[in-house]
Amino acid sequence: MHTPTVLTIAGFDPYGGAGIQIDTKTIHALGGYALSATTAITAQNSQGVVGTEPVSSEMLRLQLATLLDDVNVDAVKIGMLSNTGLIEVVVDMIKQYQLTNIVLDPVLVSSSGMRLLTMDAIEVMVSHLFPLCCLVTPNLMETNTLLGTEYKGALKENLLMAHGLFELGAECVLLKGGHTLEKEAVDCLVEPSGMACFSTPRVETSHTHGTGCLLSSAIATHLSKGLSLKESVHYAKDFLYDKLCCSGGLKLQYQEVNISRSEPLF
Ligand code: PLP
Repeated sequence: MHTPTVLTIAGFDPYGGAGIQIDTKTIHALGGYALSATTAITAQNSQGVVGTEPVSSEMLRLQLATLLDDVNVDAVKIGMLSNTGLIEVVVDMIKQYQLTNIVLDPVLVSSSGMRLLTMDAIEVMVSHLFPLCCLVTPNLMETNTLLGTEYKGALKENLLMAHGLFELGAECVLLKGGHTLEKEAVDCLVEPSGMACFSTPRVETSHTHGTGCLLSSAIATHLSKGLSLKESVHYAKDFLYDKLCCSGGLKLQYQEVNISRSEPLF
């Protein structure tokens, strides 16, 4: 059997905990081989993102065409897209190379408040990219921004949120419970055939940087191995939970102590 290949199209995080860096670590940890195309360079550390600079559309197209002319890709994870021009390149490439098993983490704003996708690009992402993906994985804030709603994150709101996202063109959605009011972290996968919820205890930790990136790239990796969407979400969520539980073992040497941080998972 060949080694499954997973392509991540995402931002570059020099701090090592989000974007291309965590995607690559995750894909390799789960038995895939990671290919990556960079959409933007960011500057960030444990205090958050302080700057971003997108690559040109031509450069993203060249990265993708050069890889895809050479290597077959079994699954794709899409993260930070920065702007409309880069979304259009990704859409073109998906169509041209007939890519499948595409998981979209609709990254809009970092936890520290830095915009990672321009406002005008949201509509283009929804209308052009959503219909090409087998799964979209928004958190509560992203869902509210996409739908123009103010859901609070109660489990009973999930079907309403999912229907709203279906109407925007998503094939299946994973509503992530990391920011909700529920005691457990419950993620709900909504497929046209029904809803399945996956629950783990909430882990008290400062190592939460890049959780969305890890989850979406883990799902893509399991899809690349031929698992069903339900199985892929189930095993990806377990992997994230294990990493959250063990993350305290990662001790970076920070220059200042006693300030709150968002730390990498592994
Ligand atoms: N940097 C990159 C490249 C990202 O893709 C993301 C989120 O997807 C972030 C930063 C934000 O991570 P966080 O929300 O954990 O700060």
